[in-house]
Amino acid sequence: MKLTRGHCLCGTIRYEFEGKPDWVAYCHCESCRRHTSSAAASMLGVKVTAFRYLEGTPGAYESSPGVWRYFCPKCGSPMAYTNEEKWPGEVHLYLGTLEDPAAFVPTAHVHTGEQLPWFDLHDDLPRFEKLGRGQKPIRHGPKKG
Ligand SMILES: [Zn+2]
Ligand SMILES: [Zn+2]
Repeated sequence: MKLTRGHCLCGTIRYEFEGKPDWVAYCHCESCRRHTSSAAASMLGVKVTAFRYLEGTPGAYESSPGVWRYFCPKCGSPMAYTNEEKWPGEVHLYLGTLEDPAAFVPTAHVHTGEQLPWFDLHDDLPRFEKLGRGQKPIRHGPKKG
């Protein structure tokens, strides 16, 4: 099984996971925006059983009950997200922490109901108001006008 590795800015936190991510997407929710201090977050989901930290122990902040956001305690890089209720058995990683962030390509935009009005991407990917799973996209491609 192919291994993919990632690390924070300073290299204190290193991780790897086996196989391909379950999904790769941009998240436009406010919590991801605040955690990453950027317009949107690019993330991928992997099974907890396929994932492990190789070095370091991330700091963890419970942003709401059962929702954890992990970061490097030294350099502050956002690293991961878990949600026991909504995403049991999954860990969500930020694409920017991958050793090769070009290795996986996002296929959707989620939580575009919270998207910033001045930010969009010129791709034809489906836009979901909230989550993508089992939902119909509200549009494909950037907002017009
Ligand atoms: Zn670090
Ligand atoms: Zn989000």
